[in-house]
Amino acid sequence: MSAKSRSETSHLTANFRNDPYWLDAAGSELNKLTGSPETLPVRAEVVVIGAGYTGLSAALELARAGRDVVVLDALGVGAGCSSRNGGLVGPSYHKLGLDGLAASHGRKKANSVIAESRDCLEYLLEFIGNEKIDCSLRRSGRFRGADRPGHYEDLAREIKGLQKAVELEADMVPQADQHAEIGSDAYYGGAVYHRDGHLHPGQYVAGLAARVAAAGARIIGHSEVSGIRRDDRFLTLAVGGRQLEADQVLVATNGYTPPALGWFRRRVIPIRSAIIATEAVATSLIKELSPKDRCFSGTSRLMLYYRASSDGTRMILGGRSAHLDDRPMSYTRDLHTQMIRIFPQLADVKVTHGWSGTVAYTFDHVPHIGQHKGLYYAMGYCGSGVGRATFYGNKVAKKMMGQSGATTALDDLDFRTRPFYTGMPWFLPAILRWHAFMDKR
Ligand SMILES: Cc1cc2nc3c(=O)[nH]c(=O)nc-3n(C[C@H](O)[C@H](O)[C@H](O)COP(=O)(O)OP(=O)(O)OC[C@H]3O[C@@H](n4cnc5c(N)ncnc54)[C@H](O)[C@@H]3O)c2cc1C
Repeated sequence: MSAKSRSETSHLTANFRNDPYWLDAAGSELNKLTGSPETLPVRAEVVVIGAGYTGLSAALELARAGRDVVVLDALGVGAGCSSRNGGLVGPSYHKLGLDGLAASHGRKKANSVIAESRDCLEYLLEFIGNEKIDCSLRRSGRFRGADRPGHYEDLAREIKGLQKAVELEADMVPQADQHAEIGSDAYYGGAVYHRDGHLHPGQYVAGLAARVAAAGARIIGHSEVSGIRRDDRFLTLAVGGRQLEADQVLVATNGYTPPALGWFRRRVIPIRSAIIATEAVATSLIKELSPKDRCFSGTSRLMLYYRASSDGTRMILGGRSAHLDDRPMSYTRDLHTQMIRIFPQLADVKVTHGWSGTVAYTFDHVPHIGQHKGLYYAMGYCGSGVGRATFYGNKVAKKMMGQSGATTALDDLDFRTRPFYTGMPWFLPAILRWHAFMDKR
């Protein structure tokens, strides 16, 4: 190895893997739950495209109501975002902010969308509890640090505004007290959101898929849907050179929506987000960095998010940056540098795992759920999908069955695209560079 490539990889352990850390614990279970394409039937009452949280949550509701359900995934169970995320759970009030939402959707709608964000979180926590899914769920709160001196006051204002619209348990933490929350001097104080928490995403998606299988639905991997045709009687899906007929279809492909599903692909903006996991360190060091086992994020536009691993031995840190590309050598180094900026204590700690995935954003910054030309959908969680995908997956299943309790705050929102947008976000690099510029001001 040349001196240059040695220095490019000096932040990685010798056994570095370009795979989600979560698969160490859940990978073999996820493989077991992924059925072979040879088992593809010729007909099903309902076909769900995508075996992530959305598709599986919907499949569970449908199968338990007695529907004959087949879940197809181009790869396998949880192969998209649902085994790749950071496992931070929260209502995500702060994507566009209440005022930003009100500006585009009106105050009343903004309040109901924000209130439903809280319902998504509560639903997730109750669901995991009721289903007894063992996924290290902890409601240990989130500390959101002010990245710039002026951000502290902005944060306090934002929380006050939100508290007028929803019941939000949050407290401001001045800089002088922040060591009680985080072993870092990188922030100018911050806020604690008490309802947030974290879980093990791999174990969660495996637990969810196991319940779907137990309810009688078939989950089939390596089965990419490459087209859908509709006639008077049913929908016909093209799947790897074979055909599958269905009465109803749910599109649950989110940030991985393919060209074959063009109407949906034109409405989601796939944005890459990447994560690193460090090698195991002394639990006393993790305790110093994260004394209350919180999740963490900042106030910058290009936000970092991080937490300790579920077993309290590693730091897991992710983010989007203007120069994040899909080369692991590049994004792992970038994230490692950011991690050391926050926690200089980890300067000598290397990275064992680095991976990325594509998050689905929407043009109006809110998720969308509904039906288009007979195809049901729920997608566009804008980077906060653990709770939302579980909640809207359940809601869309209820819609498919015409059940009560299917209404959501998003039902009357137009799922908009932009002229000439085909699903390739050519404009993203410029937008990300703009956000990076604004973050430095
Ligand atoms: C790096 C990263 C970090 C994140 N961190 C967080 C976090 O901390 N907290 C949080 O709340 N959210 C987070 N998210 C977002 C969250 O993971 C997602 O919103 C959520 O998992 C979406 O679930 P889903 O089921 O809708 O989509 P996915 O889990 O992405 O599933 C879509 C599936 O569709 C399949 N598919 C696509 N096309 C086809 C086809 N043609 N035929 C068959 N199958 C197909 C794919 O293979 C994929 O498995 C993160 C995402 C990423 C990438």
